[in-house]
Amino acid sequence: MSDNCLFCKIARGEIPSKKVYEDEEFFAFHDINPAAPVHLLLIPKHHVVSLHDVVPEDAGWLGRMLTLAPKLAAENGCTPGPDGGFRVVANTGTEGGQEIAHLHLHIIGGPRPWAKRA
Ligand code: ADP
Repeated sequence: MSDNCLFCKIARGEIPSKKVYEDEEFFAFHDINPAAPVHLLLIPKHHVVSLHDVVPEDAGWLGRMLTLAPKLAAENGCTPGPDGGFRVVANTGTEGGQEIAHLHLHIIGGPRPWAKRA
């Protein structure tokens, strides 16, 4: 946990969010500025800045986080089946468009049209 990190504060419940999921390792909530009908953010509760910082020893929790994405997408309105689906985006570093320095997966979907913004 990092004292001044916005997403750490959200995971601790110190800043309100529209939570959709929580367990011991992860927290997921609605993006405050959605790019599509469904736009969730999935974060690890422990503070990791970005994919720049992960090492092979992180493969376990990273795998568990990735396998949560389709479950959360399905539970929160992404269209099922081959004509549906969703996007997973992890903006990484400044040139990757990352604004919040706590690793997060954008889970984006829902009925189109919507722009590929995130
Ligand atoms: P970008 O803004 O370029 O997508 P990031 O990948 O770092 O950069 O994404 C940060 C996301 O966090 C943005 O989509 C933004 O709308 C969202 N966000 C910022 N503050 C909050 C908040 N308090 N609650 C929910 N989502 C937030």
